[in-house]
Amino acid sequence: MKKIVAVLMGSLIAAGCSRNSPQMQLIHDAAEALGGQTRIERIKTLVMEGEGVAPNLGQNLTPDADLPDWKVTEFNRAMDPSKSRMRVKQVREAQFLFAGATVQRQVFGLDGDIAYSVGEDGTPSRASDWVARERQREMLHHPITIVRAALEPQSKVSDVGSNGAYRLLDIRNAKGDVFTLSIDPITKLPASVSSMSYNDNLGDVVIETSFSDYENVAGLKLPRRLTTKIDRYPQFDLHVTKNSVDSEPGDLAAPETMKAAQIPPRSLPVTVTAEEVGKGIWWLAGSGNHRSILFEFDDHLMLFEVPVNEMRTLAVIDTARTLRPNKPLTHVIVSHHHFDHSGGLRAAVARGLTIITYRGNVEFFKELVSRKHSIVQDALAMNPQPLKIEAVDDELILKDRSMELRLYHLKNNPREGTNLFAYIPRDRMLVQADMYDSTWLQHPWGDNLSYNLKLHNLQVEKSVPVHGAIQTYADVIKTIQAHRAPASGS
Ligand SMILES: [Zn+2]
Repeated sequence: MKKIVAVLMGSLIAAGCSRNSPQMQLIHDAAEALGGQTRIERIKTLVMEGEGVAPNLGQNLTPDADLPDWKVTEFNRAMDPSKSRMRVKQVREAQFLFAGATVQRQVFGLDGDIAYSVGEDGTPSRASDWVARERQREMLHHPITIVRAALEPQSKVSDVGSNGAYRLLDIRNAKGDVFTLSIDPITKLPASVSSMSYNDNLGDVVIETSFSDYENVAGLKLPRRLTTKIDRYPQFDLHVTKNSVDSEPGDLAAPETMKAAQIPPRSLPVTVTAEEVGKGIWWLAGSGNHRSILFEFDDHLMLFEVPVNEMRTLAVIDTARTLRPNKPLTHVIVSHHHFDHSGGLRAAVARGLTIITYRGNVEFFKELVSRKHSIVQDALAMNPQPLKIEAVDDELILKDRSMELRLYHLKNNPREGTNLFAYIPRDRMLVQADMYDSTWLQHPWGDNLSYNLKLHNLQVEKSVPVHGAIQTYADVIKTIQAHRAPASGS
Protein backbone atom coordinates (compact mmCIF):
# COMPACT_ATOMS: atom_id res chain seq x y z
CA MET A 1 0.00 0.00 0.00
CA LYS A 2 2.71 2.38 1.02
CA LYS A 3 4.60 1.60 -2.13
CA ILE A 4 1.66 2.51 -4.38
CA VAL A 5 1.24 5.84 -2.61
CA ALA A 6 4.92 6.58 -3.08
CA VAL A 7 4.73 5.79 -6.79
CA LEU A 8 1.66 8.02 -7.21
CA MET A 9 3.33 10.88 -5.38
CA GLY A 10 6.40 10.42 -7.52
CA SER A 11 4.37 10.75 -10.68
CA LEU A 12 2.55 13.83 -9.34
CA ILE A 13 5.83 15.49 -8.51
CA ALA A 14 7.12 14.63 -11.96
CA ALA A 15 4.02 16.19 -13.60
CA GLY A 16 4.17 19.27 -11.41
CA CYS A 17 7.89 19.79 -11.62
CA SER A 18 8.66 19.14 -15.23
CA ARG A 19 9.42 22.81 -15.64
CA ASN A 20 11.28 22.16 -18.89
CA SER A 21 8.46 20.25 -20.54
CA PRO A 22 7.21 21.42 -23.96
CA GLN A 23 4.06 22.82 -22.33
CA MET A 24 6.12 24.80 -19.78
CA GLN A 25 8.25 26.06 -22.65
CA LEU A 26 5.07 27.57 -24.12
CA ILE A 27 4.35 29.26 -20.76
CA HIS A 28 7.91 30.57 -20.57
CA ASP A 29 7.63 31.86 -24.14
CA ALA A 30 4.35 33.59 -23.25
CA ALA A 31 5.96 35.11 -20.14
CA GLU A 32 8.88 36.31 -22.27
CA ALA A 33 6.49 37.84 -24.83
CA LEU A 34 4.58 39.61 -22.03
CA GLY A 35 7.75 41.19 -20.61
CA GLY A 36 9.65 38.41 -18.86
CA GLN A 37 9.01 36.16 -15.87
CA THR A 38 10.91 38.38 -13.40
CA ARG A 39 9.04 41.49 -14.51
CA ILE A 40 5.69 39.66 -14.21
CA GLU A 41 6.50 38.33 -10.75
CA ARG A 42 7.51 41.78 -9.50
CA ILE A 43 4.23 43.48 -10.49
CA LYS A 44 2.60 45.11 -7.48
CA THR A 45 -0.59 46.38 -9.10
CA LEU A 46 -2.30 46.37 -12.47
CA VAL A 47 -5.07 48.83 -13.23
CA MET A 48 -7.34 48.88 -16.28
CA GLU A 49 -9.50 51.91 -16.93
CA GLY A 50 -11.93 52.11 -19.79
CA GLU A 51 -15.50 51.70 -20.96
CA GLY A 52 -17.53 48.96 -22.54
CA VAL A 53 -20.76 47.12 -23.09
CA ALA A 54 -22.19 44.61 -20.63
CA PRO A 55 -25.27 42.78 -21.95
CA ASN A 56 -28.07 41.88 -19.55
CA LEU A 57 -28.12 38.07 -19.61
CA GLY A 58 -31.52 36.40 -19.72
CA GLN A 59 -33.51 39.58 -20.37
CA ASN A 60 -33.91 39.61 -24.15
CA LEU A 61 -37.15 40.25 -26.05
CA THR A 62 -37.32 36.64 -27.22
CA PRO A 63 -35.03 33.72 -26.32
CA ASP A 64 -33.00 34.17 -29.54
CA ALA A 65 -32.92 37.98 -29.67
CA ASP A 66 -29.83 40.05 -28.87
CA LEU A 67 -29.46 40.87 -25.18
CA PRO A 68 -30.26 44.39 -24.03
CA ASP A 69 -27.09 46.29 -23.14
CA TRP A 70 -25.78 48.17 -20.17
CA LYS A 71 -23.28 50.74 -21.34
CA VAL A 72 -20.39 50.83 -18.89
CA THR A 73 -19.39 54.48 -19.05
CA GLU A 74 -16.68 54.29 -16.40
CA PHE A 75 -14.69 51.17 -15.60
CA ASN A 76 -11.76 50.72 -13.26
CA ARG A 77 -10.35 47.32 -12.30
CA ALA A 78 -7.36 47.27 -9.95
CA MET A 79 -5.55 44.04 -9.11
CA ASP A 80 -2.78 43.07 -6.73
CA PRO A 81 -1.98 39.55 -7.94
CA SER A 82 0.46 38.66 -5.15
CA LYS A 83 -2.16 39.32 -2.45
CA SER A 84 -5.14 38.06 -4.52
CA ARG A 85 -6.85 41.41 -4.24
CA MET A 86 -9.10 43.01 -6.83
CA ARG A 87 -11.48 45.95 -6.87
CA VAL A 88 -13.85 46.77 -9.73
CA LYS A 89 -15.61 50.13 -9.81
CA GLN A 90 -18.05 50.87 -12.58
CA VAL A 91 -20.86 53.13 -13.66
CA ARG A 92 -23.40 51.59 -16.00
CA GLU A 93 -26.31 53.10 -17.90
CA ALA A 94 -29.23 51.08 -19.23
CA GLN A 95 -29.49 51.27 -23.03
CA PHE A 96 -33.00 49.85 -22.86
CA LEU A 97 -36.28 50.94 -21.30
CA PHE A 98 -35.89 50.06 -17.65
CA ALA A 99 -38.12 50.57 -14.64
CA GLY A 100 -35.34 50.69 -12.04
CA ALA A 101 -32.41 53.09 -11.66
CA THR A 102 -31.09 53.55 -15.18
CA VAL A 103 -27.67 54.74 -13.96
CA GLN A 104 -25.95 52.54 -11.40
CA ARG A 105 -22.62 52.86 -9.57
CA GLN A 106 -21.15 49.55 -8.49
CA VAL A 107 -18.10 48.50 -6.49
CA PHE A 108 -17.05 44.84 -6.18
CA GLY A 109 -14.08 43.70 -4.17
CA LEU A 110 -12.02 40.61 -3.48
CA ASP A 111 -9.35 40.20 -0.81
CA GLY A 112 -8.14 36.61 -0.71
CA ASP A 113 -11.22 34.62 0.28
CA ILE A 114 -13.30 37.68 1.19
CA ALA A 115 -15.69 39.04 -1.45
CA TYR A 116 -17.77 42.13 -0.86
CA SER A 117 -19.63 44.89 -2.63
CA VAL A 118 -20.08 48.54 -1.74
CA GLY A 119 -23.50 50.15 -2.10
CA GLU A 120 -24.13 53.57 -3.65
CA ASP A 121 -24.26 55.03 -0.11
CA GLY A 122 -20.77 53.64 0.62
CA THR A 123 -21.92 50.76 2.83
CA PRO A 124 -19.99 47.53 2.21
CA SER A 125 -21.67 44.15 2.38
CA ARG A 126 -20.09 40.73 2.44
CA ALA A 127 -20.74 38.40 -0.48
CA SER A 128 -20.92 34.61 -0.38
CA ASP A 129 -17.97 32.25 -0.62
CA TRP A 130 -19.37 31.25 -4.01
CA VAL A 131 -18.92 34.82 -5.23
CA ALA A 132 -15.39 34.91 -3.78
CA ARG A 133 -14.45 31.79 -5.79
CA GLU A 134 -15.98 33.31 -8.94
CA ARG A 135 -13.96 36.50 -8.49
CA GLN A 136 -10.76 34.53 -7.84
CA ARG A 137 -11.27 32.88 -11.24
CA GLU A 138 -12.23 36.20 -12.84
CA MET A 139 -8.92 37.67 -11.66
CA LEU A 140 -7.10 35.04 -13.72
CA HIS A 141 -8.96 36.04 -16.90
CA HIS A 142 -6.08 38.36 -17.78
CA PRO A 143 -2.86 37.44 -19.66
CA ILE A 144 -0.52 38.56 -16.89
CA THR A 145 -2.33 36.91 -13.98
CA ILE A 146 -2.93 33.60 -15.77
CA VAL A 147 0.69 33.28 -16.96
CA ARG A 148 1.85 34.28 -13.47
CA ALA A 149 -0.40 31.55 -12.04
CA ALA A 150 0.94 28.99 -14.54
CA LEU A 151 4.49 29.76 -13.39
CA GLU A 152 3.70 29.02 -9.74
CA PRO A 153 5.31 25.75 -8.65
CA GLN A 154 1.99 24.38 -7.31
CA SER A 155 0.31 24.78 -10.71
CA LYS A 156 0.12 21.96 -13.21
CA VAL A 157 0.25 22.73 -16.90
CA SER A 158 -0.79 20.23 -19.54
CA ASP A 159 -0.95 20.35 -23.31
CA VAL A 160 -4.51 19.89 -24.51
CA GLY A 161 -3.94 20.25 -28.23
CA SER A 162 -4.74 23.13 -30.50
CA ASN A 163 -7.53 25.21 -31.94
CA GLY A 164 -6.43 25.94 -35.48
CA ALA A 165 -2.94 27.38 -35.17
CA TYR A 166 -3.48 28.33 -31.51
CA ARG A 167 -1.92 26.09 -28.86
CA LEU A 168 -4.13 25.16 -25.92
CA LEU A 169 -2.81 24.53 -22.42
CA ASP A 170 -4.73 23.55 -19.31
CA ILE A 171 -3.52 25.21 -16.13
CA ARG A 172 -4.66 23.70 -12.84
CA ASN A 173 -3.88 26.05 -9.98
CA ALA A 174 -3.37 25.29 -6.29
CA LYS A 175 -7.12 25.75 -5.64
CA GLY A 176 -7.88 23.05 -8.21
CA ASP A 177 -9.44 25.42 -10.76
CA VAL A 178 -8.69 24.63 -14.38
CA PHE A 179 -8.13 27.33 -17.00
CA THR A 180 -7.63 26.74 -20.69
CA LEU A 181 -5.12 29.18 -22.14
CA SER A 182 -4.89 29.73 -25.87
CA ILE A 183 -1.60 31.07 -27.19
CA ASP A 184 -1.00 32.92 -30.44
CA PRO A 185 1.65 30.93 -32.39
CA ILE A 186 3.22 34.05 -33.93
CA THR A 187 3.35 36.55 -31.06
CA LYS A 188 3.43 33.88 -28.28
CA LEU A 189 0.96 36.12 -26.41
CA PRO A 190 -2.15 34.75 -24.67
CA ALA A 191 -5.15 35.02 -27.01
CA SER A 192 -7.82 33.85 -24.56
CA VAL A 193 -8.45 32.11 -21.29
CA SER A 194 -11.52 30.11 -20.36
CA SER A 195 -12.81 28.40 -17.24
CA MET A 196 -15.99 26.68 -16.11
CA SER A 197 -18.71 28.32 -14.09
CA TYR A 198 -22.29 27.60 -13.09
CA ASN A 199 -25.44 29.56 -13.83
CA ASP A 200 -28.75 28.62 -12.15
CA ASN A 201 -30.59 28.76 -15.48
CA LEU A 202 -27.92 27.56 -17.91
CA GLY A 203 -26.13 25.06 -15.66
CA ASP A 204 -22.48 24.35 -16.48
CA VAL A 205 -21.10 27.18 -18.60
CA VAL A 206 -17.76 28.14 -20.09
CA ILE A 207 -16.64 31.71 -19.46
CA GLU A 208 -14.08 32.80 -22.02
CA THR A 209 -12.15 36.06 -22.18
CA SER A 210 -10.31 36.98 -25.39
CA PHE A 211 -7.41 39.45 -25.41
CA SER A 212 -6.38 41.68 -28.28
CA ASP A 213 -4.90 45.02 -29.20
CA TYR A 214 -1.82 44.59 -26.97
CA GLU A 215 0.20 47.69 -26.08
CA ASN A 216 3.55 48.27 -24.34
CA VAL A 217 3.30 49.70 -20.83
CA ALA A 218 6.21 49.84 -18.37
CA GLY A 219 8.05 46.94 -19.98
CA LEU A 220 4.95 44.77 -20.23
CA LYS A 221 2.53 43.85 -23.02
CA LEU A 222 -1.05 44.49 -21.92
CA PRO A 223 -4.31 44.04 -23.85
CA ARG A 224 -6.48 47.03 -24.62
CA ARG A 225 -9.48 44.93 -25.46
CA LEU A 226 -10.94 42.13 -23.33
CA THR A 227 -14.07 40.41 -24.59
CA THR A 228 -15.87 37.96 -22.32
CA LYS A 229 -18.54 35.43 -23.26
CA ILE A 230 -20.62 33.24 -20.97
CA ASP A 231 -21.71 30.14 -22.86
CA ARG A 232 -22.91 31.54 -26.23
CA TYR A 233 -23.81 34.96 -24.82
CA PRO A 234 -21.66 38.10 -24.83
CA GLN A 235 -20.98 39.17 -21.24
CA PHE A 236 -18.61 42.14 -21.38
CA ASP A 237 -16.72 43.94 -24.12
CA LEU A 238 -14.11 46.14 -22.44
CA HIS A 239 -12.10 48.79 -24.23
CA VAL A 240 -9.18 49.77 -22.04
CA THR A 241 -8.26 53.43 -22.40
CA LYS A 242 -5.45 53.23 -19.83
CA ASN A 243 -3.38 50.32 -18.53
CA SER A 244 -1.26 51.21 -15.49
CA VAL A 245 1.41 49.15 -13.78
CA ASP A 246 2.36 49.78 -10.14
CA SER A 247 0.33 52.97 -9.93
CA GLU A 248 -1.22 53.67 -6.53
CA PRO A 249 -4.83 52.51 -6.90
CA GLY A 250 -5.54 53.01 -3.18
CA ASP A 251 -5.99 50.36 -0.54
CA LEU A 252 -7.25 47.13 -2.13
CA ALA A 253 -7.68 45.39 1.24
CA ALA A 254 -11.24 44.50 2.23
CA PRO A 255 -12.80 46.95 4.73
CA GLU A 256 -12.08 45.80 8.31
CA THR A 257 -15.80 45.27 8.97
CA MET A 258 -15.97 42.77 6.10
CA LYS A 259 -13.38 40.46 7.63
CA ALA A 260 -15.58 39.75 10.66
CA ALA A 261 -18.89 40.00 8.77
CA GLN A 262 -21.16 37.00 8.57
CA ILE A 263 -20.81 35.20 5.23
CA PRO A 264 -24.16 34.96 3.44
CA PRO A 265 -25.13 31.68 1.75
CA ARG A 266 -25.07 31.45 -2.06
CA SER A 267 -28.89 31.60 -2.19
CA LEU A 268 -30.72 33.56 0.47
CA PRO A 269 -33.30 31.59 2.45
CA VAL A 270 -36.89 32.19 1.32
CA THR A 271 -40.24 32.53 3.02
CA VAL A 272 -43.55 31.90 1.28
CA THR A 273 -46.85 33.26 2.52
CA ALA A 274 -50.30 32.37 1.15
CA GLU A 275 -53.15 34.88 0.93
CA GLU A 276 -56.51 33.88 -0.51
CA VAL A 277 -57.36 36.65 -2.95
CA GLY A 278 -60.45 35.08 -4.54
CA LYS A 279 -62.34 31.83 -4.27
CA GLY A 280 -59.71 29.15 -4.96
CA ILE A 281 -57.02 31.73 -5.79
CA TRP A 282 -53.98 32.30 -3.56
CA TRP A 283 -51.20 34.86 -3.86
CA LEU A 284 -47.95 33.19 -2.74
CA ALA A 285 -45.73 36.06 -1.63
CA GLY A 286 -43.19 36.27 1.21
CA SER A 287 -39.54 37.20 0.83
CA GLY A 288 -38.37 38.98 -2.32
CA ASN A 289 -40.43 40.57 -5.08
CA HIS A 290 -41.29 37.50 -7.18
CA ARG A 291 -44.63 35.90 -6.38
CA SER A 292 -46.63 32.96 -7.66
CA ILE A 293 -50.41 32.58 -7.92
CA LEU A 294 -52.22 29.30 -7.26
CA PHE A 295 -55.52 28.36 -8.91
CA GLU A 296 -57.89 25.61 -7.79
CA PHE A 297 -59.70 23.65 -10.51
CA ASP A 298 -62.18 20.79 -9.95
CA ASP A 299 -59.61 18.06 -9.62
CA HIS A 300 -56.20 19.73 -9.73
CA LEU A 301 -54.21 22.83 -8.83
CA MET A 302 -52.28 25.08 -11.20
CA LEU A 303 -49.54 27.60 -10.46
CA PHE A 304 -48.76 30.80 -12.30
CA GLU A 305 -44.95 31.33 -12.20
CA VAL A 306 -42.07 29.43 -10.61
CA PRO A 307 -39.66 32.36 -10.30
CA VAL A 308 -36.11 33.20 -9.22
CA ASN A 309 -34.48 29.84 -8.57
CA GLU A 310 -34.90 26.32 -7.35
CA MET A 311 -34.99 27.23 -3.67
CA ARG A 312 -37.90 29.66 -4.10
CA THR A 313 -39.74 27.31 -6.45
CA LEU A 314 -39.53 24.24 -4.23
CA ALA A 315 -40.78 26.32 -1.29
CA VAL A 316 -43.66 27.66 -3.41
CA ILE A 317 -44.60 24.15 -4.61
CA ASP A 318 -44.49 22.81 -1.02
CA THR A 319 -46.71 25.65 0.21
CA ALA A 320 -49.15 25.23 -2.69
CA ARG A 321 -49.52 21.54 -1.89
CA THR A 322 -50.58 22.30 1.71
CA LEU A 323 -53.48 24.56 0.67
CA ARG A 324 -55.64 21.85 -0.92
CA PRO A 325 -53.85 18.63 0.03
CA ASN A 326 -56.55 16.47 -1.56
CA LYS A 327 -55.93 17.94 -5.03
CA PRO A 328 -52.71 17.35 -6.98
CA LEU A 329 -50.66 20.28 -8.22
CA THR A 330 -50.19 19.34 -11.85
CA HIS A 331 -49.39 22.42 -13.97
CA VAL A 332 -47.48 25.66 -13.92
CA ILE A 333 -47.82 28.58 -16.30
CA VAL A 334 -44.32 30.03 -16.85
CA SER A 335 -45.10 33.56 -17.99
CA HIS A 336 -41.96 34.11 -20.07
CA HIS A 337 -38.33 33.12 -20.55
CA HIS A 338 -36.54 35.93 -18.64
CA PHE A 339 -34.14 34.20 -16.27
CA ASP A 340 -35.75 35.53 -13.08
CA HIS A 341 -39.10 34.10 -14.28
CA SER A 342 -37.85 30.77 -15.66
CA GLY A 343 -35.41 30.20 -12.78
CA GLY A 344 -37.66 27.51 -11.30
CA LEU A 345 -38.46 25.74 -14.58
CA ARG A 346 -36.15 22.80 -13.94
CA ALA A 347 -37.30 22.41 -10.33
CA ALA A 348 -40.94 22.35 -11.52
CA VAL A 349 -40.09 19.66 -14.10
CA ALA A 350 -38.27 17.69 -11.37
CA ARG A 351 -41.50 17.80 -9.33
CA GLY A 352 -43.48 16.43 -12.26
CA LEU A 353 -45.39 19.60 -13.21
CA THR A 354 -46.53 20.17 -16.80
CA ILE A 355 -45.27 23.51 -18.13
CA ILE A 356 -47.65 25.86 -19.94
CA THR A 357 -46.00 28.72 -21.81
CA TYR A 358 -46.08 30.82 -24.97
CA ARG A 359 -45.03 28.87 -28.06
CA GLY A 360 -41.99 31.11 -28.56
CA ASN A 361 -40.47 29.77 -25.31
CA VAL A 362 -40.86 26.06 -26.00
CA GLU A 363 -37.57 25.36 -27.81
CA PHE A 364 -35.61 27.39 -25.28
CA PHE A 365 -37.28 25.64 -22.34
CA LYS A 366 -36.43 22.28 -23.94
CA GLU A 367 -32.82 23.40 -24.05
CA LEU A 368 -32.85 24.61 -20.41
CA VAL A 369 -34.26 21.27 -19.27
CA SER A 370 -31.69 19.27 -21.25
CA ARG A 371 -28.61 21.24 -20.19
CA LYS A 372 -25.91 19.74 -18.01
CA HIS A 373 -25.94 20.74 -14.33
CA SER A 374 -22.93 18.90 -12.89
CA ILE A 375 -21.04 21.70 -11.13
CA VAL A 376 -24.12 22.20 -8.97
CA GLN A 377 -26.51 19.25 -9.10
CA ASP A 378 -29.96 20.79 -9.06
CA ALA A 379 -33.25 18.99 -8.32
CA LEU A 380 -33.64 17.93 -11.97
CA ALA A 381 -30.06 16.66 -12.24
CA MET A 382 -30.68 14.54 -9.15
CA ASN A 383 -34.15 13.42 -10.25
CA PRO A 384 -34.30 13.51 -14.07
CA GLN A 385 -37.86 13.79 -15.41
CA PRO A 386 -39.12 14.25 -18.96
CA LEU A 387 -40.32 17.72 -19.92
CA LYS A 388 -44.11 17.91 -20.31
CA ILE A 389 -44.91 21.18 -22.05
CA GLU A 390 -48.01 22.73 -23.60
CA ALA A 391 -47.60 25.64 -26.00
CA VAL A 392 -50.03 28.57 -26.05
CA ASP A 393 -50.45 30.71 -29.15
CA ASP A 394 -52.49 33.91 -28.89
CA GLU A 395 -54.97 32.69 -26.33
CA LEU A 396 -55.98 29.68 -24.22
CA ILE A 397 -59.05 29.25 -22.01
CA LEU A 398 -58.73 26.78 -19.13
CA LYS A 399 -62.18 26.15 -17.69
CA ASP A 400 -64.09 23.76 -15.48
CA ARG A 401 -66.85 24.19 -12.87
CA SER A 402 -64.44 25.62 -10.28
CA MET A 403 -62.28 27.98 -12.30
CA GLU A 404 -62.02 29.86 -15.54
CA LEU A 405 -58.58 31.14 -16.42
CA ARG A 406 -57.90 32.89 -19.70
CA LEU A 407 -54.34 33.17 -20.94
CA TYR A 408 -53.30 35.79 -23.48
CA HIS A 409 -50.05 36.48 -25.28
CA LEU A 410 -48.83 40.01 -24.50
CA LYS A 411 -48.71 42.00 -27.73
CA ASN A 412 -46.40 44.79 -28.89
CA ASN A 413 -44.43 45.11 -25.67
CA PRO A 414 -40.88 46.27 -26.54
CA ARG A 415 -39.30 44.30 -23.69
CA GLU A 416 -41.38 41.12 -23.57
CA GLY A 417 -42.02 39.20 -26.77
CA THR A 418 -43.03 35.85 -25.30
CA ASN A 419 -45.07 36.80 -22.23
CA LEU A 420 -48.43 35.30 -21.21
CA PHE A 421 -50.78 37.03 -18.79
CA ALA A 422 -53.94 35.67 -17.17
CA TYR A 423 -57.48 36.99 -16.65
CA ILE A 424 -60.09 35.50 -14.33
CA PRO A 425 -63.51 36.72 -15.57
CA ARG A 426 -65.44 35.80 -12.37
CA ASP A 427 -63.18 38.05 -10.27
CA ARG A 428 -62.28 40.55 -13.01
CA MET A 429 -58.74 39.80 -11.93
CA LEU A 430 -55.52 40.37 -13.88
CA VAL A 431 -52.55 38.12 -13.10
CA GLN A 432 -49.37 39.26 -14.81
CA ALA A 433 -45.61 39.44 -14.72
CA ASP A 434 -43.58 42.46 -15.90
CA MET A 435 -46.51 44.30 -17.49
CA TYR A 436 -46.70 46.46 -14.38
CA ASP A 437 -45.07 46.57 -10.93
CA SER A 438 -46.26 49.02 -8.26
CA THR A 439 -42.64 49.37 -7.04
CA TRP A 440 -41.20 50.57 -10.36
CA LEU A 441 -39.60 54.02 -10.42
CA GLN A 442 -41.11 54.75 -13.83
CA HIS A 443 -43.71 53.11 -16.04
CA PRO A 444 -42.62 53.06 -19.67
CA TRP A 445 -45.05 50.23 -20.46
CA GLY A 446 -48.20 51.76 -18.99
CA ASP A 447 -49.81 52.29 -22.39
CA ASN A 448 -48.93 48.76 -23.45
CA LEU A 449 -50.79 47.40 -20.42
CA SER A 450 -54.04 49.20 -21.25
CA TYR A 451 -53.59 48.40 -24.97
CA ASN A 452 -53.48 44.67 -24.20
CA LEU A 453 -56.49 44.77 -21.89
CA LYS A 454 -58.51 46.68 -24.53
CA LEU A 455 -57.46 44.21 -27.21
CA HIS A 456 -59.46 41.49 -25.43
CA ASN A 457 -62.03 43.84 -23.88
CA LEU A 458 -61.01 42.82 -20.34
CA GLN A 459 -62.75 44.67 -17.49
CA VAL A 460 -60.04 44.44 -14.85
CA GLU A 461 -60.94 45.44 -11.28
CA LYS A 462 -58.04 43.91 -9.40
CA SER A 463 -54.37 43.35 -10.25
CA VAL A 464 -52.69 40.35 -8.61
CA PRO A 465 -49.10 40.58 -9.80
CA VAL A 466 -45.90 38.57 -9.80
CA HIS A 467 -44.06 41.79 -8.84
CA GLY A 468 -45.28 44.51 -6.48
CA ALA A 469 -48.49 44.92 -4.49
CA ILE A 470 -52.05 43.78 -5.11
CA GLN A 471 -54.01 46.85 -6.20
CA THR A 472 -57.35 47.87 -7.61
CA TYR A 473 -57.09 48.66 -11.30
CA ALA A 474 -57.97 52.27 -10.49
CA ASP A 475 -54.87 52.44 -8.27
CA VAL A 476 -52.77 50.83 -11.00
CA ILE A 477 -53.78 53.59 -13.41
CA LYS A 478 -53.13 56.27 -10.78
CA THR A 479 -49.64 54.87 -10.10
CA ILE A 480 -48.80 54.74 -13.80
CA GLN A 481 -49.95 58.31 -14.36
CA ALA A 482 -48.00 59.59 -11.36
CA HIS A 483 -44.72 58.01 -12.58
CA ARG A 484 -45.13 58.12 -16.31
CA ALA A 485 -41.74 57.75 -17.95
CA PRO A 486 -40.66 60.18 -20.67
CA ALA A 487 -40.23 57.23 -23.05
CA SER A 488 -43.82 56.01 -22.62
CA GLY A 489 -46.08 55.36 -25.54
CA SER A 490 -43.95 52.58 -26.96
ZN1 LIG B 1 -39.87 40.30 -13.91
